[in-house]
Amino acid sequence: MSAFVFAPPQPASVAVAGSSDRFPVRRILCVGRNYAAHAREMGNDPDRDPPFFFSKPADAVVDSGSTIPYPPLTQDLHHEIELVVAIGRGGFRIAAADALSHVWGYGVGIDFTRRDLQDVAKKMGRPWDWSKGFDQSAPCAPLVPVATSGHPAAGRIWLAVNGETRQQGDLKELIWSIPEVIAICSEAMELRAGDLIYTGTPAGVGAVSAGDRITGGVDGIGEIEITIGAPR
Ligand code: MN
Repeated sequence: MSAFVFAPPQPASVAVAGSSDRFPVRRILCVGRNYAAHAREMGNDPDRDPPFFFSKPADAVVDSGSTIPYPPLTQDLHHEIELVVAIGRGGFRIAAADALSHVWGYGVGIDFTRRDLQDVAKKMGRPWDWSKGFDQSAPCAPLVPVATSGHPAAGRIWLAVNGETRQQGDLKELIWSIPEVIAICSEAMELRAGDLIYTGTPAGVGAVSAGDRITGGVDGIGEIEITIGAPR
C-alpha cells in the first residue's frame, strides 16, 4: 500500500449556517456577465453574449468575518457580490428541469478581481486566472441548506463599502437562471458534490482599499462581511 509523500492538505471548506459542520469545497466555478446592467458597465452587450465561465482554486474560499490582505500585483482590487450555489449531488449533462435537485444550499460570496490585470488579459487575449484566482479571492458567507432557504428566484442582492451602498440588484435580473447555469456548466464538465458556483454580479463594481470594511447580502440567504488588510 502506498503512502502520500507528505500529509495531504485538509480540504478547503466553508461554514454552514446554524451548524458547526463545514461544507467541503471541491471546485469554484464562476459565471461572467450574468446581470445585464453589469455587462453594460463592462462594455458588453448582454443580449448577445452566451454565458461563460472561469474558475478559482478551491482554497481561494474564505469565511465571512475574515480580514484578507490586499493582494499583490494590483492597484485596482474590485468587489463583485454574488449569489453562490453549493452543489450537493453531482451530475454530467444535467437537465435544467432537474438542476435544482442537485443543489445543497446557497450562500453569499464575493468574487474579488484584480481588475487592472483582467483589463490587460482581455486586451492581450490571455487567461483570466491571475486576475481572478488569487489567494483568498472567494469569500463566502455560511451556506444555508435548501431545506431552510428554498430556491431563491428573486431577492435583493447588495454590497456596501464602509457602510455606503455600492452594488444593488435583484436575483430576478439574472440573465441565465440558476437551473440554466447548472445545466450549461454541466455540459462542459461533470459537476460533483462540493462544487461552488458564483453566479455573477450586479452593476456597481468598484475598487476597495486596505482598511475598507465590505458588507453584502442576499435577502433570504444571508450576509457577508470582509475587511481588507494591509498588503503582505
Ligand atoms: Mn464575478
